[in-house]
Amino acid sequence: MADNPVDAHSRGRIGSVRVGSVRVSLARHSALGGAVQYNSGAQLDPSQVEYRSGGVGGRVAVGGGVSIIMLILALVFGINPGELMGGTSGSAGGSASGTDLTQCQTGADVAKDRNCRFVVYANTANAYWAGLLQGYQPIKTVLFDGQTPTGCGTASTQVGPFYCPNDKNVYLDPTFTEQMLVKQLGGRGGDAAEAYVIGHEYGHGIQDMVGTLAQVQSAGQSTGADSAQVALELQADCYAGAYLAHVAQQPNSPISQITQDDLNRVADAARAVGDDSIQKMSTGQVNPESWTHGSSAMRQHWLAVGFKTGDPQSCSKVFTNGQ
Ligand SMILES: [Zn+2]
Repeated sequence: MADNPVDAHSRGRIGSVRVGSVRVSLARHSALGGAVQYNSGAQLDPSQVEYRSGGVGGRVAVGGGVSIIMLILALVFGINPGELMGGTSGSAGGSASGTDLTQCQTGADVAKDRNCRFVVYANTANAYWAGLLQGYQPIKTVLFDGQTPTGCGTASTQVGPFYCPNDKNVYLDPTFTEQMLVKQLGGRGGDAAEAYVIGHEYGHGIQDMVGTLAQVQSAGQSTGADSAQVALELQADCYAGAYLAHVAQQPNSPISQITQDDLNRVADAARAVGDDSIQKMSTGQVNPESWTHGSSAMRQHWLAVGFKTGDPQSCSKVFTNGQ
């Protein structure tokens, strides 16, 4: 992870637009660059990703731009949006049907069907943690468009990717990077940034398995730069860094290499989703007491700790060392 990640790089801005009372930047489509190099011969296991299309309702209206920004504030890389959206069961969302991405058999298939990249992320994340934790159960990634019922309420694009402890799945709309990370939050996007997002969500799955999640949640809701809630998020960033380091060191991984540009995009994504960056963009002010995920600098720092050490044990220090 680069210490000074993105400043020298063009973010591809093409202007800005008002969303509610908020001006946000429009950036170029992520497809203009940022695909990682895939190992074309690597075997994939498509059963670890489910695709649900045709969710009723299309893009969910959540009441205009300011609400969207507030949701992003609360939920970028969140856990269980049901708690915040009032939904507790998977009743809404219509009858979305799920299928495995059976067309994704090898790394070469990513070039034919870009959705196959999510099979690569899920396979590499599951393989990483399976090698570290005895009795590890693979976590499924569920892709959806529009909205879909989950064990944590209805998922929609606007709530961003999340891990649901009730059904042990990671959920995201595959257009998340383009629609939210790039267009709304001004990140550069790219496959490595997506792998970071997925790595973060799988990190929450690990926290769920080992009991950290329950520990922090039983202590009650808290926010603020020094809160256990923020430490939980930073630990997930650190786990994502350790996962990316592992992928970068495996010559036979479905991701054949992670370049400096890829790492810059990862660091840039951590910057874009920092609470202070989002607050500046949405309100023009920074209020550390309401942080839920940590500042850009904190997120980049713990991502880098995971990447540089390659050791998830080092990520526990976030709970004792502070930042
Ligand atoms: Zn998170």
